[in-house]
Amino acid sequence: MNVSPFDLSNKVALVTGANTGLGQGMAIALAEAGADIALIGRSEPSNTLAKLSEVGVKTHSILTDLGSADKVSGIISETADILGRADILVNNAGIIKRNEAIDFTPDEWDAVMNVNLRTLFFLSQAFARHLIAAKKPGKIINIASMLTFQGGVRVPSYTASKSGVGGLTKALANEWAGHNINVNAIAPGYFATNNTAALQSDEKRNAEILGRIPCGRWGRPSDLGGAAVFLASQASDYVQGITLPVDGGWLSR
Ligand code: NAP
Repeated sequence: MNVSPFDLSNKVALVTGANTGLGQGMAIALAEAGADIALIGRSEPSNTLAKLSEVGVKTHSILTDLGSADKVSGIISETADILGRADILVNNAGIIKRNEAIDFTPDEWDAVMNVNLRTLFFLSQAFARHLIAAKKPGKIINIASMLTFQGGVRVPSYTASKSGVGGLTKALANEWAGHNINVNAIAPGYFATNNTAALQSDEKRNAEILGRIPCGRWGRPSDLGGAAVFLASQASDYVQGITLPVDGGWLSR
């Protein structure tokens, strides 16, 4: 019997911020491909756990605030202890602060940079240390943004963090590809989640955004599933350092 190159049976994926939105969508897609799932975040992921139990995979939830990178090394070892291994890390948790650049505060800057970039780096480092010590391959998937490629307006720390994610994805791929760790990113376009609630409810911005998306609709969390499974699976073993847009055509305009 041929095994699909997208099969994730006997793999364990850690997904940060999986209680809602894109993290929930990717956790379900990875589970449907066969992976057991560790959900890492600050809010009880009861809704996602219910959906994953319908898929029938093993799960483990770790409640922690990713605004500080201090406790991240324990996340990988706890997952490996409870679920038996750690093969895939999806760095999805992220926040956005909207304010004029001229008024932007140090707190607004630090809050976004800490979750979106600093913790992403140190959790990836803990994951890579674990894999390298065990001489095992692995997959890191960072969640980037259209603002990895574009400047945006009124979101300076978000743009800086997500541009940093694109650069860091390449830098880590360069260092860890030789250890059979793939480091890639997904850049979602405009998806209907809590993160974009302010844009969706602003009639003018909503119309401007929809008018520019060739697919003519906001993305749904399930739209990220195929890209996540691809970058988590053997199918992408020779793919390194890319940021893959999943944007309904936004960047093609
Ligand atoms: P979301 O619904 O707001 O989900 C964000 C997730 O991150 C939530 O689970 C959230 O937990 C978690 N999180 C935030 N701060 C945290 C912290 N300090 N500690 C632990 N967990 C924390 O937004 P989303 O749209 O799904 O965003 C997911 C990722 O995609 C983010 O990196 C975002 O920047 C990126 N993205 C989104 C879009 C889009 O259009 N939606 C586009 C491009 C990129 P809580 O529920 O407790 O807040």
